[in-house]
Amino acid sequence: MKKIFLTVGPSQLYPTVPKHLKSALKGDIYSLNHRGEKFAEINKQTQAALRKLLNIPKTHHIFYTASALEAMERTIQNTVLSHSFHIVNGAFSEKFYQIATDLNKKTEKINFAPGKGFDLKKVKVPKHAELITLVQNETSSGYAIPMEDIYDLKDRYPDKLLAIDVVSSAPYPNIDFTKIDLALFSVQKGFGLPAGLGLLIVHEKTLEKAEKIKARGISIGSYHTFPKIHSFAQKWQTSDTPNVINIYLLGKVTADMLEKGLDDLRKDIDTKAELLYKFFDARKGYSIFTDNLYRSKTILVIDVPKNSEILYKKLAAKGFIVSRGYGANKERQIRIANFPALSVTAVKKFLRTFEEIA
Ligand SMILES: *Cc1c(COP(=O)(O)O)cnc(C)c1O
Repeated sequence: MKKIFLTVGPSQLYPTVPKHLKSALKGDIYSLNHRGEKFAEINKQTQAALRKLLNIPKTHHIFYTASALEAMERTIQNTVLSHSFHIVNGAFSEKFYQIATDLNKKTEKINFAPGKGFDLKKVKVPKHAELITLVQNETSSGYAIPMEDIYDLKDRYPDKLLAIDVVSSAPYPNIDFTKIDLALFSVQKGFGLPAGLGLLIVHEKTLEKAEKIKARGISIGSYHTFPKIHSFAQKWQTSDTPNVINIYLLGKVTADMLEKGLDDLRKDIDTKAELLYKFFDARKGYSIFTDNLYRSKTILVIDVPKNSEILYKKLAAKGFIVSRGYGANKERQIRIANFPALSVTAVKKFLRTFEEIA
């Protein structure tokens, strides 16, 4: 039986990945020298496709990391001399805060929970904070912050750097990069690729900030500092041996998404989200926080009536793999990802199966 992964990451492969893997084998991509012309060509193509898909302007550079967590760590090292501020609405935004704390920065945070009337427009950022971080789409709680609220925050604090994690929402949100200094994600979620590649999109002014921190005698890292990544990137290279196959696949899948069209891709996500929310809202014993404004389109976190393990196993027996709740919510919730790789047909089939077994 062919499994369908509704897991939040790693997730269902984008449907064209097997085809591209075969062509990669044929083209010897796995053995490619990362200092050679062919890699530079692949890198160039991938970055061009990403720029187009995510509307990344010339003011911003595209950096590769090994994961989203690494992108968080590099962000803190290269943009914070001493003070950072963190908006925390779940486990991943807490991680961003924790990383900054572990790197000996002076950190402050504000916590909020889904459906508790939180309003980003009312958040006051401490004066000393150089960087604000937030997770736009919290994979642990299913809570998404509207982009407009994020822009409003930047408008209120134009002199502070703003970093957003869009790991489990990209490429769904339409990001206005004139208001975002840093955005990060990894490819095993919305892009439907194998794990092991992170993306960090940074405004060019962050490079000066990194140099300034370094000049003050504070470490900004070693092989993956912003200035070092950037100097290699100008030759379409990387400072380390990168995940060449994933950079190749990302370029191919991004091109496929462009061909499908971002409007259609977003429309499909909206359609599937509506099907899923409607189904679980109507289902006795199941519940999702009701604050519509903050409901994520790409990650649903659902309270379940019995131990999630029972449901997980029943669904798995039918070929549908879901995620259990995060951390302490492991047994009382399930999580479902609504990424581009999942077709409307697959979602309908999943819901019919759910109806039969639960
Ligand atoms: C999965 C996830 C991460 C971590 O991604 P890695 O690639 O495993 O480092 C960070 N933030 C969010 C919101 C995530 O869902």
